[in-house]
Amino acid sequence: MTTTKTELQVKALENGTVIDHIPSEKLFKVVALLKLDTLENQITVGNNLNSKLLGSKGIIKIADKFFAEEEVSRIALIAPFAKINVIKDYKVIEKKQLELPDKFTGIVKCPNPKCITNNEPMKTRFEVISNQPTILKCQYCEREIPQEDIQLV
Ligand code: ZN
Repeated sequence: MTTTKTELQVKALENGTVIDHIPSEKLFKVVALLKLDTLENQITVGNNLNSKLLGSKGIIKIADKFFAEEEVSRIALIAPFAKINVIKDYKVIEKKQLELPDKFTGIVKCPNPKCITNNEPMKTRFEVISNQPTILKCQYCEREIPQEDIQLV
């Protein structure tokens, strides 16, 4: 079975969070989004692993870390089909589906150079106007951003 390797990797974590099914090209964006570089937890990152679903995928395991719903939902911005597994005592106790919140503050960059958020020291604000595919709308200049153009701050 092609999933055996993944399952073994998941089970190797005693307590923590596994983020699976991340498209390979998005892996390091997810690392940046969750600010994993600032954590002192043990983190295992695998990329370009074989995936029946995606062709190639990334996986991130973070020991002893449990994310808040809001933190996890941000992943949906760049990897909407990623799977979050919460591990306790080597068992998957929860599988979270990602759900985009209605609004984002200070995470995504507005691509419009004339937007006030690119010219004043202020946080961006976006509204999610479509879920599949994801489309965001800047609340200041009303620029709409499709999923593939989403840039993180
Ligand atoms: Zn804007």
